[in-house]
Amino acid sequence: MAEECIFCRIVAGEIPSDIVYQDGDFLAFRDIMPKAPTHVLIIPRTHITSAAELTEGQEKLAGRLIIIAKNLAEKEGIAENGFRLVINCGSEGGQIVPHLHLHLIGGRQMDAKLG
Ligand code: AMP
Repeated sequence: MAEECIFCRIVAGEIPSDIVYQDGDFLAFRDIMPKAPTHVLIIPRTHITSAAELTEGQEKLAGRLIIIAKNLAEKEGIAENGFRLVINCGSEGGQIVPHLHLHLIGGRQMDAKLG
C-alpha cells in the first residue's frame, strides 16, 4: 500500500466508497464526481501508479480490468446501448489519482470526439 494514495486507502477501508464489485485482486467503486449516470472506477488492489508502470507479465491483470468493466456494464444495464472505458495516464493524459484505474462511463450519449 502506498501511504499517501487515496485509492490504496479506499482498498484498505480507511476512506469510504460505494463499492460495486470486489474480489481478491480488484475493487470497483462509484466515482465521487460522476461524469455520467454510471461512472465506476475499477482498480487493482495492489498499488500500480499508472498504465505506464505495467510490465510484461501483467497481461492478465490488465485484461481482468476490462473484463470486470464489461461485466459491470451488463450489471448496470448499460452494455446494450454502449459505454466508454478510459484510462488516463500521467499528467498530460489527465490522470489525477496516481493509482491505475479504469473508468467505466455510460448511461448517456458520449461525445464522439476524444479529449
Ligand atoms: P483520473 O483523472 O483518471 O485520475 O480520475 C480520478 C477519478 O477519481 C476522478 O474521476 C475523481 O472524481 C475520482 N475520485 C477521486 N477521489 C475519489 C474518491 N474518494 N472516491 C471515488 N472517486 C474518487
